Amino acid sequence: MESLKWISRFLDLTPGDENVGGLPRQVPGKCWSRVRPAPVPNPSLRLWSKEMADELGIEIGQDEILGGNQIAKGMDPYAQRYGGHQFGNWAGQLGDGRAITLGEIDTGQGVLELQLKGSGSTPYSRFADGKAVLRSSIREFLCSEAMHHLGIPTTRALSLVTTGEDVVRDIMYDGQPAPEPGAIVCRVAPSFLRFGSFQIHALKGDFDVLRTLVDYTVKHHFPEHCTDSDEGLLEWLKQVADETARMISHWMRVGFVHGVMNTDNMSIHGLTIDYGPYGWLEDFNPDWTPNTTDAGRKRYRFGHQAQIGQWNFARLLEAISPLMKEPDLLYQALESYEESFTQYNNSMWADKLGLGEFTQSDEELIVELVSILQSVETDMTIFFRLLSSIREPQIELLKFAFYEPESIPVEEWNRWLSKWWSRVDGKPDQATMKLVNPKYVLRNWMAQLAIDAAEKEDYSVVNELFELLKKPYDEQPEFENDWFQKRPEWARHRVGCSMLSCSS
Ligand code: AMP
Ligand code: MG
Repeated sequence: MESLKWISRFLDLTPGDENVGGLPRQVPGKCWSRVRPAPVPNPSLRLWSKEMADELGIEIGQDEILGGNQIAKGMDPYAQRYGGHQFGNWAGQLGDGRAITLGEIDTGQGVLELQLKGSGSTPYSRFADGKAVLRSSIREFLCSEAMHHLGIPTTRALSLVTTGEDVVRDIMYDGQPAPEPGAIVCRVAPSFLRFGSFQIHALKGDFDVLRTLVDYTVKHHFPEHCTDSDEGLLEWLKQVADETARMISHWMRVGFVHGVMNTDNMSIHGLTIDYGPYGWLEDFNPDWTPNTTDAGRKRYRFGHQAQIGQWNFARLLEAISPLMKEPDLLYQALESYEESFTQYNNSMWADKLGLGEFTQSDEELIVELVSILQSVETDMTIFFRLLSSIREPQIELLKFAFYEPESIPVEEWNRWLSKWWSRVDGKPDQATMKLVNPKYVLRNWMAQLAIDAAEKEDYSVVNELFELLKKPYDEQPEFENDWFQKRPEWARHRVGCSMLSCSS
């Protein structure tokens, strides 16, 4: 690690805390606090992303550094300060409560930030311990890499290290705390700046700091834009809108539900970030959310993600508005989010159905499809994958996607399939379909099987899934029997599969 080119632009160019580490507290007017990762008894490298390591130029190993016991020369660890709207309400200062950035690496192709998640408390830990458990770390590692290989913008994972130390968690918040193995994931992104990174300064009235942070962000991460005029800021924000809309349209394509779309979990780069109680649709249910904390209102349910993206983006616009001479111009950025999403969404559906170009009249076909998909329990992933190879418009050929084949509304389906078939003149673009309808995704029960084994020191399942999910669009027939499958009955109501808490 010492041979890498470490830089510390963020620390050099934005205002930071004078104190190092310390107890949880408010850190007004600052963007970060220097901290030290907490030492752990027995760091042991368990998972390693070679693809990520190659990009960074890092050799396998480095357990002591990736476990937080050593700091390599050139690193200058810190925790970022940010705020956020949680479930619709302004929550004030949040910040990296259990993430510690080690530093930024100039790879020659760009700058990437390395961050340990679960490496102990920071001034932003509030009432918690700053640690992470193995189960949530496996979920973060596997899913970030799986998303990357699906072609979905995401933060990445380099490593997972177990710490040799137990962490106590009350997994279902029902008064039954229990020790679990602790772990640390090293994650990687151009930056971990979030909408909430800007909000905190705007909502506290620290407009000079806001200005510094916006100038910094645009100069170093969006160099094609400038911030010295309303127009410049507007163009930058339109790009953020576009990238956010693009990310969410990808989630909708593969059936991913983020689960906690608070504004502190919205990356300024439009990257999927902070893998907590996320989940993947099994049956096509737009009302589904895996997050038990959100079970009542289902604010972050699958079918609501695009609107929430816009709501969150509006909060970012409000945060930037004090820097504008004519804040009303920001309505243009809000509209551009909608335009971007509509475009991405239309072409996403056109690709999923092999339509070629989307035309307005395709809307009816899509609306009808979304409706019949919900009429009986139907596996989303299997349905679209099989649709990508059928040679005739017969529902019989898609039977494997249904939980109860005898309850399929056969006539209704065949009517829709014939309509689709004539729309594409009997020649759906199935090559494209196979590139956007993955065969393998990280179903909740798959991750749970990997976790159950890893908690018994058996990492073979995690590693098998890691390999499988590097090629999610390939047939990989050797894996079909195990992983191209509907949710098994045992997973229907199991904690960690159908429901997940924020406990991690
Ligand atoms: P999340 O819901 O994971 O995005 O977290 C929301 C906020 O809680 C962030 O500021 C996190 O850093 C903080 N947080 C979550 N878990 C912990 C933990 N175990 N220790 C300290 N802070 C935490
Ligand atoms: Mg978060």
